[in-house]
Amino acid sequence: MNREDFPMLKKDIIYFDNGATTLKPKCVIDSMSDYYSNYSANAHRGDYKISQKVDSVYEGVREKIRKFINAKEASEIVYTSGTTDSINRVVFGYFRYNLKAGDEVLITESEHASNILPWFVLAKELGIVVKYIPLDDNNEVSISNLSEIISDKTKVISLAYVTNVIGDIRPIRDICELAHKHGILVVVDGSQSIGHIKMDMQVDDIDFLAASAHKMYGPTGIGFLYGKYDLLDKMIPLEYGGGMNAMFLNDGYMELREVPVRFEAGTQDIAGVIGMGKAVDYINSIGLKNIVKYEHELRKYLVSELDKLDNIIIYNKKIVGNTVAFNIKDVFSQDTALYLDKHNICVRAGNHCAKILNNVFNINNTCRISLAFYNTKEEVDKLISVLKNSSNIYKEII
Ligand code: PMP
Repeated sequence: MNREDFPMLKKDIIYFDNGATTLKPKCVIDSMSDYYSNYSANAHRGDYKISQKVDSVYEGVREKIRKFINAKEASEIVYTSGTTDSINRVVFGYFRYNLKAGDEVLITESEHASNILPWFVLAKELGIVVKYIPLDDNNEVSISNLSEIISDKTKVISLAYVTNVIGDIRPIRDICELAHKHGILVVVDGSQSIGHIKMDMQVDDIDFLAASAHKMYGPTGIGFLYGKYDLLDKMIPLEYGGGMNAMFLNDGYMELREVPVRFEAGTQDIAGVIGMGKAVDYINSIGLKNIVKYEHELRKYLVSELDKLDNIIIYNKKIVGNTVAFNIKDVFSQDTALYLDKHNICVRAGNHCAKILNNVFNINNTCRISLAFYNTKEEVDKLISVLKNSSNIYKEII
């Protein structure tokens, strides 16, 4: 779908690495160039017309994101540099001040490093305990496994909505319902789900959501943190400076501005915010429902075709989503990626920043295909024919 919108697709490549970053449509690129060329000024700082236009576009994007994820208030959206930044702000700005030694945080072994390492650091700092929800036979989170591991000490569950290696979609609505019955807060890493499935803050009842624009056809270096207003109001900013203070005195007294600008110290990535807003418009113009249906059907086709090849191991056949983890039998995943690259097919190989998942998978590295709506059956067919003819792989890549 919509392939003509993506300048990168005019190159002779098959891009199957959308989990790492998605390609950008021309309208996103143009929106950023338009800002730099035609109304370049800072946000929240000027009284002239151009700067007022910047303010209104910049704040307009907050409203677009609010609508996109169905948050209650635009003020619940904080601009950040992306998912990693958002999770760090929550862990070190909120939970650092609201957890104590012995409190338990539940994650899984299939989380990305960005949703594990901050918790490890907080565990060292406060003496909280990081525990892993046991995964089921499909390497997925089940409500029954979760129920069993929840205790009086559990205070946080921090999970990806969609994981980046297996690509399974977590039952976040049910997880939040169960968590809230026990007074537990839920942090959701939305980097693989944003732009690929519908996330609804009010229906799912998520407490904090982290996301990156570059995973949803937007620019790199920008993203957002959603938090329920009352939680954000208690979160402590990690950065101090211009734009976020209401006043300060020479004796050190300061008053901070309201949520969310309290968390946006210094000149922000205005072009990035504008590009992120355009990406939301673009996704809306195609329709998230259409995207979900198309990607899930294309994945089914990909799995059924891969499954016909004797030399391929698929690790996540049963999931619904847009990701396939596989290896060529007896071939190191990086070698497969190099081989596919010789045929201009881009896939990711390695442990995908989910290093402890190896304990579960019993395999160190996999190749990952992560689809987007601009991928096609023809591209899948090309991949299949290249994999079919891979008996001379080592000759080709040396
Ligand atoms: N979590 C998951 C599940 C991811 O896939 C990624 C990106 N690979 C991240 C977090 C980190 O996102 P970013 O690099 O945009 O901060």
